[in-house]
Amino acid sequence: MVSLRDAAWTAESVWPLKTPSTRQESNVDKVLGGLLVPGFDERTCHSRYSSVFYRKNVTRLPSPHLIKRLRKQEALQRRCGPGTEAYRAATARLQYRHRVGVNDTTNSACKYVVLVPYRGLGNRMLAVASAFLYAMLTDRVLLLDRATSLSDLFCEPFPGTTWLLPRRFPIKNLQNLTGEVKESYRNLVQNNSAASVSGLGYVFVDLDHTCTYHDKLFYCDDERQFLYRAPWLVMRTDGYFVPALFLNPAHQEELDRMFPRKDAVFYLLAHYLFHPTNKVWGLVTRFYNSYMRNSDEKLGIQVRVFDGDTPFKHILDQILACTSQERLIPEVVTQEPIMLPPPSTTGARSKAVLMTGLSSWYYENIRWKYLQSATVTGEVVSVYQPSHEEHEFSGKTTHDMKALAEMCLLGMTDAIVTSGWSTFGYVGHGLGGLTPWVMFKPENLTTPDPPCRRARSMEPCMHGPPFYDCRAGHGADTGKLVPHVRHCEDMSWGLKLVHPE
Ligand code: GDP
Repeated sequence: MVSLRDAAWTAESVWPLKTPSTRQESNVDKVLGGLLVPGFDERTCHSRYSSVFYRKNVTRLPSPHLIKRLRKQEALQRRCGPGTEAYRAATARLQYRHRVGVNDTTNSACKYVVLVPYRGLGNRMLAVASAFLYAMLTDRVLLLDRATSLSDLFCEPFPGTTWLLPRRFPIKNLQNLTGEVKESYRNLVQNNSAASVSGLGYVFVDLDHTCTYHDKLFYCDDERQFLYRAPWLVMRTDGYFVPALFLNPAHQEELDRMFPRKDAVFYLLAHYLFHPTNKVWGLVTRFYNSYMRNSDEKLGIQVRVFDGDTPFKHILDQILACTSQERLIPEVVTQEPIMLPPPSTTGARSKAVLMTGLSSWYYENIRWKYLQSATVTGEVVSVYQPSHEEHEFSGKTTHDMKALAEMCLLGMTDAIVTSGWSTFGYVGHGLGGLTPWVMFKPENLTTPDPPCRRARSMEPCMHGPPFYDCRAGHGADTGKLVPHVRHCEDMSWGLKLVHPE
């Protein structure tokens, strides 16, 4: 993982972007059933109101209560965000207490959660979505540490304010904070020092997937009894912790009202929050219009390899076994037909296969397979891959832009195969509202048998879940406590939301 910022992006801009003509503007709900607020300047962020034209129907609509909570959060972000008197006062108090440790219990009207996202882009997007939901549940303003490229990738989601933490923030080196600091939640819990929260100025919550038992007690925290005294929470996380929020009795009622359907939480949060900037959206739309738009069907295959960057035959075998077993791409004929129909009369169905991955080797093999032989069904299969970066350089702007563009393109397919354990894949299928076929992570460099299975929901998996029953106050199998939080298909100890049938 490298933390570089590269030279300014030079691709020419393409305003106005054309939208696919198949869906007429007038029939399309650009604000996604009230999820988005109208009135943003469309030119500064084309994707916000036009991404709907590139997707199938909106899979899940927001509940009236979620819409109400989003509008309330927007008002809070505007009232307390950077540039306001409330923000100035809150940072001044933080600076003052932080330096001299004064036990000032001034009740600040505005409370904040500062998120420090890190690792790859998939990790960071899941972290942002989770922290945003936490902020809504606890009436806090969400601000993002700007150390990574997020500001080059995403438009502002809240009207009339910014979600980026101003550079002149009193706590320095946010990226280097760990659970060891005296302000950490772990420390407060271990020393039973909840009373000292108000004297600290801020509380640091470490939710790295490797965090400790004491850090994870945060997931049982009832904000009304403890953390409400901390106007500033600094949170460091690299993943999706929403399933743990659904296990906390303090949030259950509100979450039930916000999300009557439990399997589209990330889908709705992501469509509310993540609007690619025009540069990224240009990559997405140009690729889509060139290679995907005219096909009858689109299949996404996301290949993420955790054993190294070199190509592995067992992974190619796994992709082919999965797509064949699940009948996602037609088989090829072993013998060419003697007579071929003239091109104009074939009327053959076309299937675009969008592959993503750091290596081009899997794509080249699959593409060659379908160039070399015809399909048994007569379908025309075209295989594409937008980039092959070879290595991960997370934090480097152009690299991250390509990653985001590819996640968006995966979300524009009709069906998707993803690699288990990959947050990149979770975001890809989550954006599309697609329940994926998940390829199991190979062990001992061997193709797993079965190679993949259909997931139970389109939700991402939480990799570092708590193993504690908040209600009972003891350790438990948290995948068995409520019907809508279950273990993941790709990670047996992970947790994900499902909608109980
Ligand atoms: P995870 O590691 O699979 O959970 O996903 P992350 O997105 O958190 O981190 C992997 C990073 O590697 C991505 O953010 C990209 O920077 C890069 N990467 C991995 N797979 C791909 C891919 O298919 N396409 C592109 N462009 N980048 C990728």
